[in-house]
Amino acid sequence: MSMKYALVTGGSRGIGRAVSIRLAQMGYYVIINFQRNEVEANKTLALIREQGSDGALMKFDVGSKEEIQSILGAWVEANPDKVIEVLVNNAGIRKDNLMLMMPDADWDSVLKTNLDSFFYVTKALVQNMMAKRFGRIVNVVSLSGIKGLPGQVNYSASKAGVIGATKALAQEVGRRGVTVNCVAPGFIKTDMTEAIDPTPYRNVIPMQRFGEAEEVASVVAFLASKDASYVTGEVIHVNGGLYT
Ligand code: NAP
Repeated sequence: MSMKYALVTGGSRGIGRAVSIRLAQMGYYVIINFQRNEVEANKTLALIREQGSDGALMKFDVGSKEEIQSILGAWVEANPDKVIEVLVNNAGIRKDNLMLMMPDADWDSVLKTNLDSFFYVTKALVQNMMAKRFGRIVNVVSLSGIKGLPGQVNYSASKAGVIGATKALAQEVGRRGVTVNCVAPGFIKTDMTEAIDPTPYRNVIPMQRFGEAEEVASVVAFLASKDASYVTGEVIHVNGGLYT
C-alpha cells in the first residue's frame, strides 16, 4: 500500500510533536518541519517510527517565503507522486510586550512566523490537494486570537488573522473535498509556556490545570481524519473551559 503524506510545521517539539505521533498512528508518513532544533526533530522521527510508520525532517523557517519556496516547493516539484494530503500549520512563536513598548521587529517577526507562514506554506500544497479532491488543513491558533490578550497585540493579531483566512479558504476549496479548520488551545504544557506559573490560573480555568499537548493533538487528528469530512471553516477550542 502506498504511503499517505502529512506535513507538520514545528513538529520538533510540543504540540507539533504530539500531532506528528497521532498522524503516524493514522498511517501517515510525517514530514517534520522545524527551524533550529534538529536533535528534538530527530526524537519526533524516532517516536513516529515507534508507531510503525515513517517520516523525514524538513528544515525551513516558516516565516521565510524564500525558504518555503526553495525547500518545500522544491520537494513538491520533485515528488509529483507524493501528495501531502494533511497539512498542520502549527509552528508559532510569541514575543510578548505591551504595545507601547513593543519593538517593531517583534511585531514583524510574530506576524511573519504565525500568519505569513499560513499563506505561503498552504499555497505550496493546496493545489495538489484540490487536484486529488481530498485535503485536510488544520491551523493551530490560540485563545489569544479570539479574545485578545494584553501584552500579545502581535500574537493575538497573527492568530486572529489565521482564523479569518481559515474561514475564507474553507469557502474557496470546499467543493474540492479540502477542509480548512482551526484548533484554538488555551494554556498547554510545552516549552512555550514553561515560564508561566500555572498557580494563579487554576482558579480561572474551569478544569483547573494546563492542558497536555496530546489533548490538542487528538482534536487535530479528528479534524485530519475522514470522520471530520463535513466540518470546515470551524474553530475548535481546547482550553479546559477558559473563555474569559
Ligand atoms: P513550542 O513548544 O515552543 O514549539 C514550537 C515549535 O515551532 C518548535 O517545533 C519550533 O521549532 C517551531 N518553530 C518556531 N518557529 C519556527 C519557524 N520560524 N520555522 C519553523 N519552525 C518554527 O510551542 P507549542 O506550545 O508546541 O506551540 C505550537 C503552536 O501552538 C504554536 O502555533 C502556538 O502559538 C500554539 N499555541 C500554544 C499554546 C500553549 O499554551 N503552548 C497555546 C495556544 C496556542 P524548533 O524546535 O526548531 O525551534
